Amino acid sequence: TKKHKVTIIGSGNWGSTIAKIIAENTKEHPELFQEEVQMWVYEEEVTLPKDSKHYDPSKGDTPQKLTSIINTYHENVKYLPNIALPPNIVANPSVVDAAKDSSILIFNLPHQFIGRISKQLVGNILPYARGISCIKGVNVTESQIDLFSEWIGEGLGIYCGALSGANIANEIAEEKWCETTIAYDPPPIDSRVATPTGPSPSSSRVNLTITPADEEHRDVLGRVSKTKLRALPSDYPPLDHATFRTLFYRPYFHVRMVSDVAGVSLGGALKNIVALAAGFVDGRGWGDNAKAAVMRVGLLEMVKFGKEFFGQTVHAGTFTEESCGVADLITSCSGGRNFRCAKLAVERGVSVDEIEASELNGQKLQGTSTAKEVNSFLKAKGLEAEYPLFTAVLDILEGRNTVDDIPELLARVDDV
Ligand code: NAD
Ligand code: 13P
Repeated sequence: TKKHKVTIIGSGNWGSTIAKIIAENTKEHPELFQEEVQMWVYEEEVTLPKDSKHYDPSKGDTPQKLTSIINTYHENVKYLPNIALPPNIVANPSVVDAAKDSSILIFNLPHQFIGRISKQLVGNILPYARGISCIKGVNVTESQIDLFSEWIGEGLGIYCGALSGANIANEIAEEKWCETTIAYDPPPIDSRVATPTGPSPSSSRVNLTITPADEEHRDVLGRVSKTKLRALPSDYPPLDHATFRTLFYRPYFHVRMVSDVAGVSLGGALKNIVALAAGFVDGRGWGDNAKAAVMRVGLLEMVKFGKEFFGQTVHAGTFTEESCGVADLITSCSGGRNFRCAKLAVERGVSVDEIEASELNGQKLQGTSTAKEVNSFLKAKGLEAEYPLFTAVLDILEGRNTVDDIPELLARVDDV
């Protein structure tokens, strides 16, 4: 039987942590996976920090390629410093080469970069590959909103699930226990659809006989999906909940498998807006009660947003019962980067963008762009006022309101 080859697309703080988890598991489960894990790295020149144990004074401060640093020292010194990565992770600067022949693709990079990367993959992946998106964000174009899992799946002609949870990367990289949620719910595949092996020549949306089952396949918004899923060849282990659980589960990283892809994706995206609000009130010195208040209103707006725009499939319970919902909200409003940067911005009287640039060493906030994107979607629908906290966060980011306005802005809709 064949074994699954796994590629991680992305190598930031969370991308490198997820690569570590997966590489530990591919080594432990040779019956399912090839041991080597490819990790696509956005190539850049990096100077080893003087306090790094790999710093070599004889080489001085000569910059080196990040891929070469990772493959030599098995450490991502820039985005996940001081964490040993398993040597079966291979850093690769070419996304096409990294994803070649992989039946499992894990998308894990800041959401602003996924469009350009996905384009390079079209036509260059196995047509029966399956994906998991670990990206926390939503894709907004004019008045349409898409989950990244769906958008990746549609764009590449594959099925893509979602992973999200209360998962601050640095804690997990240090193997401190936590939970996560993985949503994976591919539509049934008509067994009469033949599955050729190897990548398709020019596009991953290749000529298939469209069966009635295909035509009825709808995405989570009820739209007829353009993706005609390819069955996995029968000589591979199945790609089901059990296999994905084995790929991600570690004693320090507990996994719950669910089917609500929309709920899992939205929780991870929307909590970033709330975490900015929590940082604003904390930075203003208002203490834990104010923070709890914005978390309460934020959670209500998250559930309302899910029900209003993804109502066909989203379960309110995903927000209130799973790690990807309320637990992620709590951790993000306690120690997440969005929270920390918003807090520092208020304390220092500068913008969140300035703090991101000065404090994060290249890591990217997702909350600032998500606040803007969600707002442009709500504005197009004339619904800004129904989401006072989401709207207040953007207004504060863009200087139309200040933190001091938050109580008044939220008081207007006590019954959100
Ligand atoms: P990060 O914040 O560490 O971002 C840095 C990454 O972006 C690096 O890999 C860098 O190479 C890449 N990058 C920079 N410029 C680029 C460009 N022009 N094109 C392509 N890539 C470029 O990233 P992360 O923490 O791995 O976050 C990835 C996703 O995971 C995000 O959606 C985030 O919300 C989510 N997430 C993060 C954490 C966390 O604690 N870090 C936890 C859970 C989920
Ligand atoms: P930040 O991007 O705000 O650090 O949030 C990390 C996260 O998603 C924790 O679950």
